This record gives sequence, C-alpha cells and structure tokens, in this order.
Amino acid sequence: MNLHEYQARALLKAAGVPMLDGDVASTPTEAESIARRIGGTVVIKAQVHAGGRGKAGGVKLARNPSEAADEAAQILGMTIKGLDVHKVLVVPAAEIVTESYVGLIMDRETQRPVFMVSSAGGVDIEEVAAKTPEKIVRMPIDPTFGLYPHQALRLAFVLYRDFTQVKAAAKIMAQLYQAFVDNGASLAEINPLITGPDGRVLALDAKIVIDDNELFWRPDLGVLRDDSAELPSEAAARRANLSFIKLDGDVGCVVNGAGLAMATMDLVKFYGGEPANFLDIGGSSSPEKVIAALKIITADPHVKAILFNIFGGITRTDDVASGIVAATSQFKVDVPIVIRLTGTNEAEAFRILGGVGMTALSDMDEAVERVVRLAREAA
Ligand code: GDP
Ligand code: MN
Repeated sequence: MNLHEYQARALLKAAGVPMLDGDVASTPTEAESIARRIGGTVVIKAQVHAGGRGKAGGVKLARNPSEAADEAAQILGMTIKGLDVHKVLVVPAAEIVTESYVGLIMDRETQRPVFMVSSAGGVDIEEVAAKTPEKIVRMPIDPTFGLYPHQALRLAFVLYRDFTQVKAAAKIMAQLYQAFVDNGASLAEINPLITGPDGRVLALDAKIVIDDNELFWRPDLGVLRDDSAELPSEAAARRANLSFIKLDGDVGCVVNGAGLAMATMDLVKFYGGEPANFLDIGGSSSPEKVIAALKIITADPHVKAILFNIFGGITRTDDVASGIVAATSQFKVDVPIVIRLTGTNEAEAFRILGGVGMTALSDMDEAVERVVRLAREAA
C-alpha cells in the first residue's frame, strides 16, 4: 500500500525525524490560508502516488498566500503519471545547501532490510542509480539485531564530514529504521535529506510503502489507504478479495491460483497473445468472486477476449460455472469467453454451462490457443 507524502511524513515525524511542519489542502483557498498561517515562502506539493513530481511540475515555490492559491489551483488540476491530484501539501520553503538520498527497502536477495544512501540525492537519484551506481552505498541490516550505532554512523559519514551533521544524520538513520520496522514497510525513503545554511539536517520529502500483509493486524494503517489514488480496476479487485494486476494486453485472464495464473500468462504469450491482466480468484472461489472478476475485466476497453482457466482442487469448478452463468445473465459481455475447466465437480460444471448453451474445454493449450486467435480476430 502506497502512502501519500503527508501520511509518510506523519509516520516519520512520530519517529522523531526532523522536518518543517506543513498541512494538506484540497482547494486553492485552503492552500492560501495554510500559506498565510506559515508566513513567508512556501512549497506547494502534489500528493499523488508517483515519484518525480518535481520534474512533472508538481512541486512549486510560492512567495506569498495569493501565489500559493494560484500554484495550488494549477497543481490541483494536474494529472501526474495517470493519477489526478486531489490534494496538495503546503510546507515552509527550506533553503537547500546539500541534497542527499536515504532509503531503506526490504531486499529479497539478502532477505533483510537494506539501507541505500547517497550524497548525490535530489530529483536525479534514478539517473545516479543507473549511470553511477557506485555513488550509492548499500548496507544490509540484520533484523534480529536492528541498526547498530556504528552502522548508523558509517551511513551518516557517507553523507557528511561535519561531525554535528554526521551525528544528526545517524540519528535520522535510526529513526527511519524504526519507522520502517514499526509500520511494516517494504520501503521508506527520504529524498532529499537536506542541509540548510544553518547546517541543520532536515527531511524534505518522505515516501513509505506499507507491506499489504501487515494490514491484517494494523487496521490503524489500513485507514491511510486512499482509494481515489489507485487505479479504479485495482481498487475494485481489492474490495472483492481478488489478486489483480492490470497489464497492457488484450486477453483477459481469470484463473485460480497464482502459479496457474502465471503459467496461463506464459502460455498466452507463447501463442502470440498479450495478457490484459494477472488475476487470481483464489482457492475458494464463490460465484460472487467470478462476477466481480468479470466486471473488472470487461470494464477494460482493451480486452478483446476472455479466458477462464480453472483447475478444480479446493476450488469447485461448478461454483465458477455458476458465477459465469450468473454474470453473463446480469450484464452483457461483448467479447468472446473461452472456458477451460477441469477437476472438482467438472461434470456438474459442464452441465451448468451446457444449460445456457455455453461450452468448456478441458485442455489448457487448446483453450489458450483459441482465446489468442479470437482476440487477434477482434483486434
Ligand atoms: P519528488 O520530485 O516527487 O521526489 O518531490 P520532492 O519533494 O523530492 O521535491 C523535488 C525537488 O524540489 C527537491 O529535490 C528539491 O530540489 C525541490 N524542493 C522541494 N522542497 C523544497 C524547498 O522547501 N525548498 C527548495 N529550495 N526546494 C525544494
Ligand atoms: Mn523526492
């Protein structure tokens, strides 16, 4: 689950990370009054789940409240990387002497949190990572022991020489690590971490991604989810308890089990097609889940044909068949559907489908080849 900057800031602030206090606004008038309260020059920042807002024009300085209103009006009307801006953060403008990068990610390779720090922070960190990766220092942390003080100092010395700043940065490393662990994050990032003319070290941006598996026992974090900031199809899938990822192809896929879903997508590609999505309806698939899945997939105008690939184990294929029949009677599906099912209760499933004049295949190759051909013919 992605957090907005203002939400990530609140979690980092609770951990003690130094930053300038700001507030969020949904309208230019609100932005104006926050700017008036802060006084002086402020920064107006688009709150969307996307990086590179600075480069996209979503981060602007405003010298007074009326400029703040104008800039907020501009930014609130923007779309950044396909996401509409609904809120802006208004914070006091900081004077920047140096910009550093500090990030913490859950790393699959080392199976532990890994710190990444660089004195070449700011808006071009992606370029630094691609062209001069040696400028980014990585340090895996053993989660059993956490971040040792000497490790925090080592990371801080990558950024600064002045010992007051080194100590301040080491403290921030420890606070970031604590916020990462306490909130079940898969990523926590400060970019830029700045020093100002007074020498102070401050966080100017905050990004946190919460591991979705944490939300089960952390309802307090779950409320931070902003449905309006997600792609509508992915939000609908989550509400229906479906694992869904939208892709760019034209073959809609409804599959039970993540492994079979991956294999199905491979086979679609093997036969020259492109999957429109990854979708795992899960082990215990009720007819309701099938209906929800079909609604989500048919809402995508790029989808030219739909494939059901169901291997009945715990999943009862007759439940899936009932779902298909119910869905297609509830709303009109304009694209061809190819059904492959085999396993638990398949005789009953074939009978249910036959009752409304639908057929199903048992062979996966045959079904995938057919759906790819139908999608191509419709394109
Ligand atoms: P991002 O582009 O989405 O990562 O947004 P950031 O919050 O990191 O802002 C992008 C860039 O805007 C930063 O790297 C800074 O260079 C600049 N910026 C952000 N806040 C301030 C500020 O308070 N003062 C100044 N001078 N520049 C800022
Ligand atoms: Mn940033």
